[in-house]
Amino acid sequence: MQTLHLTDSREDLQRAAALLRDGELVAIPTETVYGLAADALNGAAVAAIFKAKGRPADNPLIVHIAHRAQLDALVADIPPMAEALAQAYWPGPLTMIFRKAACIPNEVSAGLPTVAVRMPSHPIARQIIERSCPLAAPSANRSGIPSPTDAKRVAEDMDGRIAAVVDGGTCEVGVESTVVDVTGDRVRVLRPGAVTVEMLKQVVGEVEVDDAVLHQLKKHAVAASPGMKYKHYAPNARVVLVKGSPSAYAQYVNTHAADGVVALCFDGEESTLSVKALTYGTRNDHAAQAHRVFEALRELDECGAKIAYTACPSPDGIGLAVYNRLLRAAGFEVIELD
Ligand code: AMP
Ligand code: MG
Repeated sequence: MQTLHLTDSREDLQRAAALLRDGELVAIPTETVYGLAADALNGAAVAAIFKAKGRPADNPLIVHIAHRAQLDALVADIPPMAEALAQAYWPGPLTMIFRKAACIPNEVSAGLPTVAVRMPSHPIARQIIERSCPLAAPSANRSGIPSPTDAKRVAEDMDGRIAAVVDGGTCEVGVESTVVDVTGDRVRVLRPGAVTVEMLKQVVGEVEVDDAVLHQLKKHAVAASPGMKYKHYAPNARVVLVKGSPSAYAQYVNTHAADGVVALCFDGEESTLSVKALTYGTRNDHAAQAHRVFEALRELDECGAKIAYTACPSPDGIGLAVYNRLLRAAGFEVIELD
């Protein structure tokens, strides 16, 4: 299959929408990361997403809508706290898990009684949904590796496997949406993102954070969000998270300098290191870290890194999302220095 490379021109967006209406796969930019989209109500089209990505069949997908009215047909009910969160943060990087309506194909929900829905804010994603239909879309990477935050990375993973990629430049946020379960008594965070725990609390008061956000699932434990149990976001290089002050981190890296050792550190701290360094934002700028982290993980492989000692971000605000992704990229391998 020849993959079309489309722009954000009117004509190209119409073409992308037409392909989606025909049951084809199209990668689209969103404000979080690039998504690999298909018509959410077409089970065969959605099944093709799993094949193109090599995604485990039991890992459900998020349905993307452009207008609040589209939600009603997709879900069995809308709890008041979900209504309040939608008011506050849609369109934006917040996914909510509802009890699903009968029209949701099993391929989307991976057999669960629930469906995840989000309304992206990216103008290209919104225009494509408006011209087609609600779209099921996971991140547009091959399963297991870092999510793509520009069209070039999508093409590296997906050329020849999908009908088209729409180039919308670099994704602003850089990490996937916050995922919350709104089917229980309290809002529960299953995956942290740019809509932070603090932001959720401002709207609904109490918020729970699922154990799997910061801890490895115990063997045989049932994942609240199936995506949490898989190896995720990992480059070929072995990633090791190193927790400690800037000087403790530098000392650790410098005493472990060897062939293939690369430091993934904060901007401005490279000069303290005796090995090749890649950076992912300054130490205190969590938004910049989120924006850079997946691209930096991909760059590790391009520079031939075998092991990447990675400076640990602080888990505040959107920093929790960065930490959550790096923990998984590292397979939970963390060294605590002080
Ligand atoms: P991705 O599509 O790669 O951004 O990942 C979507 C995330 O949302 C995965 O971690 C899924 O397991 C999770 N997810 C999607 N639908 C549901 C659902 N119905 N219940 C729980 N988690 C879900
Ligand atoms: Mg993904």
